[in-house]
Amino acid sequence: MVRFSQSLNPTFARYLRIQLLPSSFDAGGSANAAQRLTCFLIDDRVTVDAGSIGIALTESQRRTVRDVIVTHPHMDHIASLPIFVDDLFGELEQPIRIYATEEVIGLLKLDVFNDTVYPKFDELKNDHGRVMEYAPFETGKEFRVAHLSVTAIPVNHIVPTVGLVISDGKTTVAFSSDTAETEEFWQVVNRARRLDALFIEASFPDSMEKLARASKHLTPSMLRNELGKLNHNGMDILAVHLKPAYREIVARELNELKIENLSVMETGRIYEW
Ligand SMILES: [Zn+2]
Ligand SMILES: [Zn+2]
Repeated sequence: MVRFSQSLNPTFARYLRIQLLPSSFDAGGSANAAQRLTCFLIDDRVTVDAGSIGIALTESQRRTVRDVIVTHPHMDHIASLPIFVDDLFGELEQPIRIYATEEVIGLLKLDVFNDTVYPKFDELKNDHGRVMEYAPFETGKEFRVAHLSVTAIPVNHIVPTVGLVISDGKTTVAFSSDTAETEEFWQVVNRARRLDALFIEASFPDSMEKLARASKHLTPSMLRNELGKLNHNGMDILAVHLKPAYREIVARELNELKIENLSVMETGRIYEW
């Protein structure tokens, strides 16, 4: 059951809380539905990807988020990560920890935090110490991020990418990240004792399956096939990563699948399980 809460105080959270941060804003400054960047905020402490981390966190969230899991180095998943670290540079009392595979960390060092695009923050310190550090993880092995247990599984995208199974000990959720058809991810998800929510991508409409396959993404029909590999029942299924230009048609096609508990995740809304 998805619960909805306006509560923003993590101290009293009884549920795992996940928010897809908004990345597009109307002229008046209010967030709108289009999802151009990917960043899921968990319990105001951890993020999965960091596309909008530097532009969409509240002031209090900026003070509590210190752990960032990067599924892959595509721009829509890391765009404002350098800005996030930069903004906090002087005040950080502990480093921002970037969790990713060695392969992805290598790409972040080569292409982003390289002293050309932006500073090598992992080599810099403020008055309190280091401001950013890389925390490599291995796929298939559970690791700890703040209060969460995380298992990363390679998925089928155009660059090295992982899907994630994340648990706080009570609630378990899974993120497909960006992927076309994939196998190992579902095997690991199926081994989880329970599954409360699945966040799965649906980038392009069915009419653009060729492009979806070339860029290694899913269409609604491909998503339906992927769900056929899942043994769990009853969890909430939230479609994400709808390309803004095709958002309405993808949403309609998802709706036409008539899959129980499947909906398009709303940006900015706090979901609780
Ligand atoms: Zn991608
Ligand atoms: Zn993406």
